[in-house]
Amino acid sequence: MIEWSEGGTSWTEVPSPSPSTIVALATPPGRAGLAVVRLSGPDAFRIVSSLLAEPQPLEPRRAIVARIQATVPAERPEEVREGELRSQLREPVQGLPGRDRGEVHGSRTEGVRVTEGGAAAARWAIDQAVVLPFRAPASYTGEDVVELSLHGSMAVVAEVIAAAVRAGAVMAGPGEFTLRAFLNGRLDLAQAEAVRDLVDAATPLQARVAFDQLTGTLSGRIAGIERELFSLAARLEASIDFPDEGYRFVAGGEARAALERAAAMVDELLATAARGRVIREGATVAIGGRPNVGKSSLFNRLVGSDRAIVHQVPGTTRDLLTETVTLGGLRVTLADTAGVRESDDLVEREGVARAARAHAAADLVLLVLDGSEPLTAEDRRLLELAGESPAWLVVANKADLPAAWDAQAIPGAVRVSCVDGTGVNALTRSIARILADERDGDRQPACAGGGQGRDGVSQPGREPVVLTNARHIQLLEEARAALDEATNLLAADPGVPEEIVLSEIQRAREALEQVTGKRTTDDLLHEIFSTFCVGK
Ligand code: GDP
Repeated sequence: MIEWSEGGTSWTEVPSPSPSTIVALATPPGRAGLAVVRLSGPDAFRIVSSLLAEPQPLEPRRAIVARIQATVPAERPEEVREGELRSQLREPVQGLPGRDRGEVHGSRTEGVRVTEGGAAAARWAIDQAVVLPFRAPASYTGEDVVELSLHGSMAVVAEVIAAAVRAGAVMAGPGEFTLRAFLNGRLDLAQAEAVRDLVDAATPLQARVAFDQLTGTLSGRIAGIERELFSLAARLEASIDFPDEGYRFVAGGEARAALERAAAMVDELLATAARGRVIREGATVAIGGRPNVGKSSLFNRLVGSDRAIVHQVPGTTRDLLTETVTLGGLRVTLADTAGVRESDDLVEREGVARAARAHAAADLVLLVLDGSEPLTAEDRRLLELAGESPAWLVVANKADLPAAWDAQAIPGAVRVSCVDGTGVNALTRSIARILADERDGDRQPACAGGGQGRDGVSQPGREPVVLTNARHIQLLEEARAALDEATNLLAADPGVPEEIVLSEIQRAREALEQVTGKRTTDDLLHEIFSTFCVGK
């Protein structure tokens, strides 16, 4: 491991992985159809061979079915303390490999019985497993890996892990398989983070974005920016190295153009952060409109249940109802802002004020209007409000009844019927499009370099990238600020010494290198991998 200090931070050049062989349950603990136990490290093949009841050769990428034997030990090995094994099988252990092991967060339950050792060692078959070996470096971790698909009994899993430890394996810490994959160069840091995001994905869009990142789309974009800056830095350095010639290897204008190209690429990535936030955290959609237009009915339609009580009497007081649903692949928290009207005097004021409040808090407001009745003064005021912001969508409800006004006259309005479901799918698509796509389009960066410098900016067929990770966003903002600074220095004084410009370029490059983990700190690795589950 190469460590050095710079500006008070100690940096670690990708440390070499430890030579131990780790073992962990890779599937969730509990009773299940299958449980996958995974081993990684130089002894993985030998250890698994020792677990087979009948000797069989382990060939890379060839699955075999084999009886697995456990040993009744005279004594459980020191490393497999009951609490530790239990904790690995119940709850993620906090902390990193080799640290804080056995620190259990959450309840211990009686779910796993770890048999205490019998008097004498004996061997017996405990399960029949599918054994799938991978030979280094062609494996997830880049080391020898063996996966055992067992029956999903925690008793079986506990015995198999204990037997592996007796044969020389150590229990893996959180994210240790992926950490090894990173340390062995199988994945970069952004891809390793994508593994975690994919495992944690709760909506199809979260999964898609994480998978894109796992396949290296973000890393590819970062590499493009790095290439631009590398070439510029090399030319500036050459100018420093040959000062006497009075020759500049890069003209001021050229340097600025290169900086602007790099900045445009950074901007393009940063412009996706808003969409990334919606994909990561979901969005809040408020349903507004005057009483009796069908807000609660729409809420129920979108939620797919009778969660909100539909009232025939306008203005019945109710609390704000919220429900989180998946709409068009996005996690959406719907808020029904209906109700809460105490006196007729307040009717109009209250409606408008409530809509404005909902608007302020929500990512999108669905303004529901009754398509079967002429628009009222309150409707018109709400429509005026809507017109001022792109984050509104007009829903003309009661499409099953004769129309009293022309919904097509309102741009983007969607006609629905909450009674027969007409238009609800179209509405869902519009909601998802507004939240996930148009928002992105709205924030396209200003074109740097007067349109000259859009190398790398959205081109048809390019892999999509969405920034969903706060760490990446922060680092790209740092890179952007450094590029701005460099551009400003050159703008203020075209003869500015190369060293000064270079130090800003270097700052930008360092930020980019931290995204992909070319440059990383021990603390950062601990911080990232401790958020993984054991077995990943
Ligand atoms: P809210 O006050 O805006 O929440 O409105 P509600 O959802 O409570 O609905 C008010 C009334 O309109 C109820 O009688 C609903 O059954 C009726 N309603 C809601 N949506 C529709 C629709 O699409 N078509 C028809 N015909 N009636 C509807």
